[in-house]
Amino acid sequence: MSKIFKRTKILATIGPATSSEEKVNDLIMAGVNGCRLNFSHGDSETREKQIAWVRKAAKNKGRSVAMIQDLQGPKIRLGLVKNNHYDIKEGDEIILDANITEHKSGNVLPVQYNLAPKVKVGEPIYMFDGKVRTHVTEIVSETAIKVVAENDGFVMNNKGLNLPDTDFGGDILTPKDLADIAWGASRDFDYVALSFIQCADDIHNLREILRQHDSTAKIIAKIETKKAVESDKNLEEIVKASDAIMVARGDMAVEAGAEIVPIVQRKLVKMCREHAKICIVATQTMGSMVDNPEPTRAEVSDVANAVIQGADVVMLSDETANGKYPLETVKAMKKVILYAQNNSEMQPIPHDPESENRDYDAISAAAARLAEGLKADAIICQSASGATARAMAAQRPNLPIITVTSNERVANQLALAYANSAFVRPYSVNFGIELAKELKESGYLQTSERRKNLKVVLVSGDRDVAGTDTIKVRSI
Ligand code: PGA
Ligand code: MN
Repeated sequence: MSKIFKRTKILATIGPATSSEEKVNDLIMAGVNGCRLNFSHGDSETREKQIAWVRKAAKNKGRSVAMIQDLQGPKIRLGLVKNNHYDIKEGDEIILDANITEHKSGNVLPVQYNLAPKVKVGEPIYMFDGKVRTHVTEIVSETAIKVVAENDGFVMNNKGLNLPDTDFGGDILTPKDLADIAWGASRDFDYVALSFIQCADDIHNLREILRQHDSTAKIIAKIETKKAVESDKNLEEIVKASDAIMVARGDMAVEAGAEIVPIVQRKLVKMCREHAKICIVATQTMGSMVDNPEPTRAEVSDVANAVIQGADVVMLSDETANGKYPLETVKAMKKVILYAQNNSEMQPIPHDPESENRDYDAISAAAARLAEGLKADAIICQSASGATARAMAAQRPNLPIITVTSNERVANQLALAYANSAFVRPYSVNFGIELAKELKESGYLQTSERRKNLKVVLVSGDRDVAGTDTIKVRSI
């Protein structure tokens, strides 16, 4: 195949470093497939503009791009600290009070979430990305708790707290999250990501709230708490309840220990493939490029390994939100992805005869192996809901999956699926073949040199019978 398609996708966080129409356009032209707006920062006026820039750039390129609303979740933060600096010595007692917003003097610091009903004496609370470690010694009042510091350090305005052992009891959505969900539901988001989830119920709750708002967004579960990774059973329940998973390595390292992160990553990529869910590997993928124009050897290796493991998506955070070299980072990442995919082999996933999806699995597995065996130029999916395309992606074929759907939301959502390029066309019985002809004519799809015609494997379902039931081979 002469045209090179990148099969693992790039998700970029939009922030101050990329907050202009031109910069967003450059990112998307360079190969960004999805844009994340981080609701821990920023204001709605800016977000409104950012959404419009992404949609315009996607249109310019003629490709679907996914828009992600990333909710803060119970990322508990301090409030304002006097002079933006509060020194802490080992053994210091600190009161965290949700009833104040500003620290004036003494040892009472403001906290933006009422911890008193949630925490228990003895539980650890880490401040400022784990730099200051404390534990709870007393519930002081209905809004205040007392902690004692275990090391020297300092905190600043609005620094985050991690509470790895605290059970939020299926009640992790804060009033801010609920307001952000309501705001986002009437905007053009394809996914809602939820931070600090602990169990599948957190996802079920969010799904119900999105339904009440008539949102068509799918759900990304951010795996970053100690509770979430506690057992494989809990992880698998979360994967099943979600549409996509983010391996949120930043907070996961603080909450559960950096050493567990690579193992959890491998596990999640595998589980996501088995359940045909999208897997996003996030945080510090190219971290040093915030300040440098070149990635480190370790970062290149990290991204390549995510590709070799079969991640659907690698994500950029600070690199594109606050870094000096956002565009260079995307270009460097794309290069690493292409080389890794073209020089490694993906293992087929074993069939689970007990799986609820076994028919999808069997047909998509057969189509993937058939297409590879025939050295086809593309797999074409006709997919109304996106399920056929996701089942195809789970097979990780080494050729492009071109999906045609009449639903624009579905096409945008598939922008994050492995190897998938989705196009929106009005429904017709043969719109897969029609699209293949169109893409051949435009030069988007090209035949390999040894053939005159384009060879495609078409996967479709009878519209009246839900599911995928047909594989065809066509020369175009
Ligand atoms: P964040 O999530 O960037 O929203 O914190 C990702 C992570 O924690 O790795
Ligand atoms: Mn996080």
